[in-house]
Amino acid sequence: SGKWAKAMDILKEFEEKCETPIGKLRQVADAMTVEMHAGLASEGGSKLKMLISYVDNLPTGDETGLFYALDLGGTNFRVMRVQLGGKEKRIVKQEVKEVSIPKNVMAGSSSDALFDFIATALVKFVATEDDDFRLPPGRQRELGFTFSFPVKQLSIASGTLIKWTKGFSIDDTVGQDVVRELTKAMERVGLDVRVAALVNDTVGTLAGGRYNNPDVIAAVILGTGTNAAYVERANTIPKWHGLLPKSGDMVINMEWGNFRSSHLPVTEYDQSLDTESLNPGEQIYEKMISGMYLGEILRRVLCRMAEEASFFDDYVPPKLKTPFILRTPDMSAMHHDKSADLKVVGDKLKDILEVPNSTWKMRKIIVELCDIITSRGARLSAAGIVGILKKLGRDTLKDGEKQRSVIAVDGALFEHYTKFRNCMEGTIKELLGDAAESIVIELSNDGSGIGAALLAASHSQYL
Ligand code: ADP
Ligand code: MG
Repeated sequence: SGKWAKAMDILKEFEEKCETPIGKLRQVADAMTVEMHAGLASEGGSKLKMLISYVDNLPTGDETGLFYALDLGGTNFRVMRVQLGGKEKRIVKQEVKEVSIPKNVMAGSSSDALFDFIATALVKFVATEDDDFRLPPGRQRELGFTFSFPVKQLSIASGTLIKWTKGFSIDDTVGQDVVRELTKAMERVGLDVRVAALVNDTVGTLAGGRYNNPDVIAAVILGTGTNAAYVERANTIPKWHGLLPKSGDMVINMEWGNFRSSHLPVTEYDQSLDTESLNPGEQIYEKMISGMYLGEILRRVLCRMAEEASFFDDYVPPKLKTPFILRTPDMSAMHHDKSADLKVVGDKLKDILEVPNSTWKMRKIIVELCDIITSRGARLSAAGIVGILKKLGRDTLKDGEKQRSVIAVDGALFEHYTKFRNCMEGTIKELLGDAAESIVIELSNDGSGIGAALLAASHSQYL
């Protein structure tokens, strides 16, 4: 019937606009490399901020003692403590507590409200420390603060917020030193803890990854948002005017979520998503890839199908009009539906959109949309990783060298969205050919928490 023809037209057009043939991906990878150079050359030289992390040494395994970590960066906020036992004993014990951040604290509140919320959760957690954790008498507790937003770092343990992303929006935090704000809030609740390191989650993941595997050279986050960090040679950073570190290395937080390029396959749905977002014009790459947005892109395409092709018969399900009602985990569940009648898709439509009786044909189209959106995101992420490998000269096999490059990846999108992950890994192989043999993509489950604790240890005041 005409209805299906129109729906298929919308689907086909969307599919074409989302296409990422290998030639386009090479252009994206090359553009990523070019922007990396530009961002390292000068402050403001690129959409890629290429932020200097002040981390010039990664964990060795020798770290010992009790350290805390605090992870703020997306859906949940986490506190953790770890007892480090050095080369022999490694991680003796580890405890984590997750706290969800109320919506009214994330957006529209005040800096003090946010940091009081964090400090209050931390003081409660510290109170539950048992005898397996050992703080030598007279010592102050120390903490690594994972703060996953763009920060202009001033030292290893201070830095000012450049902007919020991923649904956070608290005006008076921008420009503030987040370590100072956290420290003041801890004082307000009577907690005596020193912040020894301020790190982005990418940098934490890189540190945690290196602790487990000496071949780790970069880290990528694929969760609520997306970002990457890697180890750069300090003498190839023109904008760095400080002393060259002894190690010769400097970890760079790319803030790659803000990457954009004329080669990105941007559709009208991406454009309206961006315009109506909390941060229009920003984080364009992130908005095509990460968990916060994939489900929302799907909702937007379905909305159009409902309105213009009577996809759900002659009405537009009111729920479908609600931004962010289709979450990426639900999209993933529909995409992985193996049942013959696509029961999972039917159930999700019923539960989330209040569409009681969907047909197999409708469900099938929805699965196809999931595939288009997720493949595009996964393939663009693969191109980004290849961009980093190119920058480091690790995208080709070198004669006689047995160099391995391991990329530590963290984030629930990569961890749980199997089709995303398989597509990303497959695309890296497609892009690198034989050279892909020396590249390993390693899931680093919560490496960023451990990583921040390890960096607190290596920047302890007691060393
Ligand atoms: P964060 O990035 O906030 O630190 P996570 O790494 O846990 O936290 O990522 C959370 C995001 O991952 C969610 O916003 C969601 O979009 C996505 N996600 C979580 N679970 C799944 C899942 N099962 N399938 C697909 N995506 C998921
Ligand atoms: Mg995280």
